[in-house]
Amino acid sequence: MSNFRFTALEKTLNRPIGIVVPPSLKVSDYYGSMTFNSQTMKEHLTDEAYKVVMSAIEKGTRIDRKITDQIASAMKAWALNRGVSHYTHWFHPLTGSTAEKHDAFIHPTGQGKAIEQFQGDSLIQQEPDASSFPSGGIRSTFEARGYTAWDPTSPAFILDNTLCIPTIFVSYTGDSLDYKTPLLKSMRALDTIAVEVCKYFDKNIDKVYPTLGWEQEYFLVDAALYAARPDMVLTGKTVFGHPSAKDQQLSDHYFGTIHNRALAFMQDLEIESHKLGIPLKTRHNEVAPSQFECAPVFEEVNIAVDHNQLLMHIMDVVARRHEFKVLLHEKPYAGINGSGKHNNWSLATNTGLNLLSPGKSASDNFRFIAILSNILKAVHTHEGLMRASVASEGNDLRLGAHEAPPAIISVFVGEQITATLEEIEKMPSRKALTSNNGNKDIILDIPKIPEILFDNTDRNRTSPFAFTGNKFEFRAVGSSANTAKPMFVLNTIMADQLNHFKQDVDKLLAEGMKKNDAIFNVTRRYIIESKNIRFEGNSYSDEWIKEAANRGLSNNRSTPEALEAFVSEKTIELFRKHQVMTEKELLARFDIKLEKYTKKIQIESRVIGDLATNHILPTAIHYQNRLIENARGLKEVLDSKTFVKLSRNQLNTIKDISNHISSIKDDVEMMTEARKEANLIEHVQQKAIAYKDEVKPYFEKIRYNVDKLEMLVDDELWPLPKYRELLFIK
Ligand code: ADP
Ligand code: MG
Repeated sequence: MSNFRFTALEKTLNRPIGIVVPPSLKVSDYYGSMTFNSQTMKEHLTDEAYKVVMSAIEKGTRIDRKITDQIASAMKAWALNRGVSHYTHWFHPLTGSTAEKHDAFIHPTGQGKAIEQFQGDSLIQQEPDASSFPSGGIRSTFEARGYTAWDPTSPAFILDNTLCIPTIFVSYTGDSLDYKTPLLKSMRALDTIAVEVCKYFDKNIDKVYPTLGWEQEYFLVDAALYAARPDMVLTGKTVFGHPSAKDQQLSDHYFGTIHNRALAFMQDLEIESHKLGIPLKTRHNEVAPSQFECAPVFEEVNIAVDHNQLLMHIMDVVARRHEFKVLLHEKPYAGINGSGKHNNWSLATNTGLNLLSPGKSASDNFRFIAILSNILKAVHTHEGLMRASVASEGNDLRLGAHEAPPAIISVFVGEQITATLEEIEKMPSRKALTSNNGNKDIILDIPKIPEILFDNTDRNRTSPFAFTGNKFEFRAVGSSANTAKPMFVLNTIMADQLNHFKQDVDKLLAEGMKKNDAIFNVTRRYIIESKNIRFEGNSYSDEWIKEAANRGLSNNRSTPEALEAFVSEKTIELFRKHQVMTEKELLARFDIKLEKYTKKIQIESRVIGDLATNHILPTAIHYQNRLIENARGLKEVLDSKTFVKLSRNQLNTIKDISNHISSIKDDVEMMTEARKEANLIEHVQQKAIAYKDEVKPYFEKIRYNVDKLEMLVDDELWPLPKYRELLFIK
């Protein structure tokens, strides 16, 4: 045992848990060892095949059949060396999680013998029986075929002795049934136009790609306590629970010392992540007790999204080894902070430039302001769609709850940039400026943005979309979400905006204006036109809600309303124009999302009904009987005057319990009726709205009475672990 490095928990338990990494190994020794990355490919492929793959990754060129056979065979050899027996296409169906269907390499050759076989065909395409994945009617059940197709830009990896090949997932008719397909298409659209725009500034730029660095928040809860809470097991959250006397009031958890059990989990998670090439770098405690965050170094967006999906999966696996359960729900506990997933987004170029970095020179500044004005304009034009991109039943409980960004999308840029934008707004048009200057096409007088922006974002953690020095941080994303969705929305609205920008600038050029003048004029116009999206104040305040309404910004508090922006004419045209999604695909996704919303509320409603009826009410009645017996006994032993005096509180408690019991019973019955009625509605959106307006309101009411009972009933009898137990790791 001494040959291995032990985590704190292992030391406590005196046994190894999970994988064991020899103490002599540095992270760099095993980093990426479970991925078929470019270095591995270089070692395993011929020069020719390697070049073809790299070109496919970098330029999107095709890989021909001969080469795919070679790659498959190299992958197989690499994987067999690591004890792998199966392979699977790994994809992100619209359920929100990841899907796998494992096939063995084994291929019988007769006479009781077999060989391991994996050919190009199996690498590039699989046909999983896809009839049970949500398709929003795109795939009718008799034509249930769905195809997965290899995405060579995301490295294959080994998970649980299985070779996993990242793929897209499309229907027989070519419609996308996953998150990755629109993401890849949005990247292509953005790359094409962004390169054209970048040529105004630098002729060497011939690739632009979005980068994403996510920050994942989560809760840890002891696995045994979790198992004793049917609500958590079935819905991922608690539906009842009186607040713990102490929770996050003292802010003593935030950035505090990490509990050794949690730390052991994190260390193990990091080892697993690093083996898979997920560059986890940061870990810390979050605001609520037992709430944590981890974040990697940012990556190209497609890889970052895959890595986040993969991380959410391995978190769950690693947690089991530590007798924990990871909660990724946006609001697992009422009354304390929920969890989000901040998406740090930027644009990088093949020349190593971050387009959102205000540069050193005047020309870098000019480029930066031009790109920034396009982002402001894009978000302003499509704020409703941005909100829709993060809409989910869980996230509704967080957004606008005074602990997370509101359901109103606005942009925070900080004091210094605001000052610059205001200055530009006041400047005369560039044409006047340059002609004063001998009519030379030079950049002058653009207010300089300091090279080092002081990070004033910590002073405003309330903005849903904040500029943080050299990237934007989209903070309204839910902790359980597949980040592909907010990312393909952001990429697509940016692609569209840059298209407009190019047209607007080219129009002025055609009129004979100098290039920098044209760029300046369009930029200035965008800054002015998008002014209403900028907000530097407290986004959690009630004043902002009023102000935002005056500015005409949408405030869709619930998913069924927010999602409408996904199927508006504007959105349909946007995605059609950039060939990211067809109207049919958008409508299908709209239906899937709404159905998921309805089902989540339906499940939660059933869990509430079942728990109230089977756990809470019998316990309350049991305890009430004890009190009644006790009162009877007192009556026997006390004279009637003393009894009246002393039993008052006791009798009141009996009455209180009766009231709570009867309210709960009534509400559960009415909720069930409301559900029955809602179930009769065929129209998906109306059904979702009925669930929201007619079923969901009972949740709070029932909970109120249950939580009151929790305080009245003997602790020994209470059937569910309490918040004070769930929230503190022992
Ligand atoms: P913090 O917010 O904790 O101060 P940073 O702002 O440096 O830390 O980084 C937060 C997240 O932003 C990290 O996941 C990091 O990888 C990511 N990030 C940093 N630069 C970029 C970028 N250019 N593009 C995308 N994400 C980035
Ligand atoms: Mg940050």
